[in-house]
Amino acid sequence: MIEVYILFFISALLVFMIGGSLASFIAVLVYREKEVSINTFENKKTFSKAILGRSYCETCKHKLGPFDLIPVLSYIYLNGRCRYCKNKISVEYFFVELVLGAIFTIDFLYSMYLLPQNGFNISIFYINLILFFIFASIIFYVSYYDIKNYLISDTMVALLSALGLVTMFIPEFLQQSSNMLFSYFSNQYLNIFMYHLLSGILTLILFLAIYILTNRKGIGLGDVYLSFPLSFILGFDLSLVFVYISFISGGLYGLYVLLLRRKKLKDPIFFAPFMGIGFLSSLIFYSYFLSLPIFLILHYYLGV
Ligand SMILES: [Zn+2]
Repeated sequence: MIEVYILFFISALLVFMIGGSLASFIAVLVYREKEVSINTFENKKTFSKAILGRSYCETCKHKLGPFDLIPVLSYIYLNGRCRYCKNKISVEYFFVELVLGAIFTIDFLYSMYLLPQNGFNISIFYINLILFFIFASIIFYVSYYDIKNYLISDTMVALLSALGLVTMFIPEFLQQSSNMLFSYFSNQYLNIFMYHLLSGILTLILFLAIYILTNRKGIGLGDVYLSFPLSFILGFDLSLVFVYISFISGGLYGLYVLLLRRKKLKDPIFFAPFMGIGFLSSLIFYSYFLSLPIFLILHYYLGV
């Protein structure tokens, strides 16, 4: 029995390391993007160099070896300093790796917890886990970029929409087939598509209304665009959870910065990280959220 626990611990650690490594890749991408623009692809050569180039120390430009690239742990082991020039490495990299590593691990642990509930269906487990890793990496990039530049990448909004168009037809993903509530059309695929499209459009209208009503100070136009693919991916039910958590977390953060007088109302704001929190919580805990009685009541009154 003890072997099972060791195997479980190693798997969780491995998942954490994958998340951390992807985070450091994303951080480099956001950092190097100041030199090249991902949105315009104006210079393909520098663009590919920025993505494929090896990581190096920002102070001494020494290329990093495989041991320096181990996320989180190498930072602790090297005491936050470069192995070659002993200069301090920004603590930001450490936190960025820690956050995505933790997000991946939470999803892995919760998916394990759901295994008996799903009758040990391995394909549900893997499909949700892998798609979660992809979506989490993209939204992490978008959020980190938004915090740094107060901008949301159009390319990523388009990419998320395209992915949503594929994932909605994967029955294992969020177990969509069992949660289908749309039955207006005789074609099953058309029902699925309309359920997700309507969800995306309604959320987009809601965000657009907030954008206009708050005089463009509450959220940015980029956030309005981003709300579409996230809601399109989730479908109507989970979108309610996504919108709710986004505004609760964003509102709490807004209150926090205003009370501490660190910012004024007219200062630029970022909202993508809170949309990320809402989106990723919906993806991780979908099975819990979808079992909430509110959806039974809602479906009863909507007659669907
Ligand atoms: Zn160095």
